[in-house]
Amino acid sequence: MTTRHTDVAILGAGTAGLYAMREVKRAGRDVLLIDQGPLGTTCARVGCMPSKVALHAGAAWATRLHWGDIGVSGHEGLQIDRAQAWAHVRQWRDQFANSAAGKARQGAGERLLMGRARFQSPTVLVVDTPDGVVTVHARAVVIATGSRPVVPAWLNELGERVVTTDGFFELPAIPGRVGVLGLGAIGLEMGLALSRLGVNVVGADLAPVVAGIADPVVAEQSQALFAREMTLWLGHASTLKPTAHGVLMQSGDRQAEVDLVLAALGRRPNVDALGLAEVGAPLDARGTPVFNPHTMQVGDGPIFIAGDANADRPLMHEASDEGSIAGFNAARHAMGEALTGFERKVSLGVAFTDPDVVSVGERWDRLSIDDTLVGTARGEANGRSRILGVAGGVLRVYADRASGRVLGAAMVGVRGEHLAHLLAWAVQRGETARSMLSLPFYHPVVEELLQSALQDIVRQQGDHAPWPMGLVPVSD
Ligand SMILES: Cc1cc2nc3c(=O)[nH]c(=O)nc-3n(C[C@H](O)[C@H](O)[C@H](O)COP(=O)(O)OP(=O)(O)OC[C@H]3O[C@@H](n4cnc5c(N)ncnc54)[C@H](O)[C@@H]3O)c2cc1C
Repeated sequence: MTTRHTDVAILGAGTAGLYAMREVKRAGRDVLLIDQGPLGTTCARVGCMPSKVALHAGAAWATRLHWGDIGVSGHEGLQIDRAQAWAHVRQWRDQFANSAAGKARQGAGERLLMGRARFQSPTVLVVDTPDGVVTVHARAVVIATGSRPVVPAWLNELGERVVTTDGFFELPAIPGRVGVLGLGAIGLEMGLALSRLGVNVVGADLAPVVAGIADPVVAEQSQALFAREMTLWLGHASTLKPTAHGVLMQSGDRQAEVDLVLAALGRRPNVDALGLAEVGAPLDARGTPVFNPHTMQVGDGPIFIAGDANADRPLMHEASDEGSIAGFNAARHAMGEALTGFERKVSLGVAFTDPDVVSVGERWDRLSIDDTLVGTARGEANGRSRILGVAGGVLRVYADRASGRVLGAAMVGVRGEHLAHLLAWAVQRGETARSMLSLPFYHPVVEELLQSALQDIVRQQGDHAPWPMGLVPVSD
């Protein structure tokens, strides 16, 4: 058995682990990066990046539906080779994943240890490597082991007819009929990408809304928009049965046969096999470590946790921030120095569904309705959204009734990814509806939706200012 010593051991060379490593190295401390493989990060291998390439491919193919409007003829007979489209997705995926894997290999060098780790004590790890067991003694440990798709046991009877996003991009080709079980952001994105590539998609979710949308107006509008492109079965449990040629999906009184089911039922943090309970780490009822979101410290010991592994904010940009915080503090803890608590950024979620589903800051279900003003702007009233071919959509901006301070927003709309950033930055800066309106808005742009929603808030506040809305008098 081999023994290795380090200041900070990092479990997982995904996004969180790589950012943690950067901070440990910046602090001048020794690091050991441990990963069971494959390298390349979930985001680049099977997550953010291949899903966006698939959406882009679907969007490119779907543009033909509008070519007749501008006088193009002959496009009706065009064909798409979906196997080739999927190979194209994989090519891009390989570029992104190879680049991320290179960062792990080059960044860690000889300090990269390939193997599966578990705790023997809070500062001793046992790593099963291809060359045997390695015992690692560390002064501090960062858990950055990510998450994996949830696959309930009852899906196993479908064998190869059910796949998760872990295997989806490896399929040699996409069949003509796909069921998507689970319509959170991931399931909805994948379902729309496939339907735009010409696949007949049935999407089902127990929840009555898609993408976990909390705002009832945005939820209703989203459902209406996306039901034009794929079948949506919402609000009922589904059952799946194998048939001679595929899988029979049933939900309420509806049923359909599909060739393949993509299970997108959420993700589970990879902490259950780490032996955390045995080493006395504080765990919540679900077995997830209890940690401080400003320091990433688990309890008050030498273990830190970042990224999907802590199940708090399972998004790539949060994994990078959390990895940085965990690495920064693990390096200090290793040297017996005080930890630093860092502010967390305003929450920001985007489903790249075009029209995008967006959530910024406070969610509707956490607001006090009596204390909140809601500014609404409809996509139909926005010229640029209409030119871009998306009829419909709605933006709802939430502001504190007393101060006008913008608290959050929800939206389904074209190019929502960009409006989401403007809104998140404004919320984090503490802007009010009036202060945001004093900033420039061009024409014709989708940002005018934001202008309209803010004007709606100011009108509800009672516009008592003696000067025109959006203008500020020159100060002496
Ligand atoms: C289809 C899909 C689409 C997504 N789209 C987006 C998006 O558009 N935007 C966005 O922000 N987020 C998106 N996400 C989420 C995003 O990918 C994750 O939040 C992010 O990748 C998590 O990074 P991580 O570092 O926590 O984990 P990972 O990148 O998964 O890294 C964990 C690493 O730990 C290793 N590991 C696990 N257990 C052990 C062990 N016991 N010992 C050693 N090593 C171990 C694994 O091999 C892995 O390399 C998407 C996810 C999916 C699945």
